[in-house]
Amino acid sequence: MWQSLARGYWSNIKDSDWYNWKWHLQNSLKDYQSLKKIFPLSLDEKQACKNTIAYFRMSITPYYACLINFKDDNCPIRKQAIPSTAELKNFYYETIDPLLEDSSMPIPGLIHRYPDRVLIYTNHMCSVYCRHCTRRRNVSKPETSPGYNGLTAIISYIKTHTELRDVILSGGDPLSLGDNYILDILSKLRAIPHVEIIRIGTRYPVTLPYRITEGLANQLKNYNPLYIQVHFNHPMECTKDALLACEKLADAGCVLVNQMVLLKGINDSADIVKVLNQKLLQMRVQPYYIYHCDAVVGVGHFRTSIRVGMDIINSLEGWTSGLAIPHYVVDLPNGGGKVRLSSDRIEETPSTFLIRNYQGKQFVLNK
Ligand SMILES: *Cc1c(COP(=O)(O)O)cnc(C)c1O
Repeated sequence: MWQSLARGYWSNIKDSDWYNWKWHLQNSLKDYQSLKKIFPLSLDEKQACKNTIAYFRMSITPYYACLINFKDDNCPIRKQAIPSTAELKNFYYETIDPLLEDSSMPIPGLIHRYPDRVLIYTNHMCSVYCRHCTRRRNVSKPETSPGYNGLTAIISYIKTHTELRDVILSGGDPLSLGDNYILDILSKLRAIPHVEIIRIGTRYPVTLPYRITEGLANQLKNYNPLYIQVHFNHPMECTKDALLACEKLADAGCVLVNQMVLLKGINDSADIVKVLNQKLLQMRVQPYYIYHCDAVVGVGHFRTSIRVGMDIINSLEGWTSGLAIPHYVVDLPNGGGKVRLSSDRIEETPSTFLIRNYQGKQFVLNK
């Protein structure tokens, strides 16, 4: 069931290059000129490549590009990686930073929104710039990286804030940094007694799985408990190579969880989410969150109604393993934080709860 990747345009590339993550970063498709040599683009994509890059760069690894089915205008990989002119639209309720992340930074690069945990913007770079990126105002722009000095200041802040027990490395993608740089951050965080768990949010297992080398995985063993938050959005991303990357991390003792973003025309159906999540469980990745698409400028064409997400959860409950059912969350505008939107099976009366089961039958529980 695990498909190996067809290399397409890159069929003559030596294995030693193809399986080298640095080769992919050097050969990523970053503009219209390099993309059009390989794929026939639609008129809209051609225009979008030229007009959106000023706002948010494009980058597609050869690995991820090989997952695109170019015969399909609506290919889920294509839509996540290649710009559309719809990104230039602006809905009245959208802003560039609806979660007010930039004003929740006690120091540059550190978002401290919740009482006991923080998120570090480690750097600006990703292997693929997801067109639905929620942090597109900063991601891909080098001047937004805190750099080594910034990270040193961030680590000092965490050291003095003894209430912080959970630290998330995010970005950009932390695994865009070199092994030694990552291990340096991890060892400094691990040396802080009140830091109980560390998480790394990364899309490399999805967009460039060769980044997960034996060497890196072996080193990560030293920093457990380490949670890896990956970002698979569609079953087509669950390849043999992605499986191998996840296995290396799981064998290193990391706990893998998935954060999917609900995207119109890509994964906004219960059938797709069910297949995706069942595949992820086989890859030792537990579905954690489905995010409602934030009210960020440039991603309006991906946003569904909240009802779509709730219906997906409703149609999974009871029909597949509980392990395959994540929480559907909306990150509230103005920095309100995440809220889980559970399925609406419960109705409250003065003395009872009326609860519908997965088959739609109603049960009465006394209070
Ligand atoms: C999502 C997020 C977290 C982590 O939230 P959990 O619900 O614990 O996974 C922490 N900080 C910020 C700023 C976040 O956006």
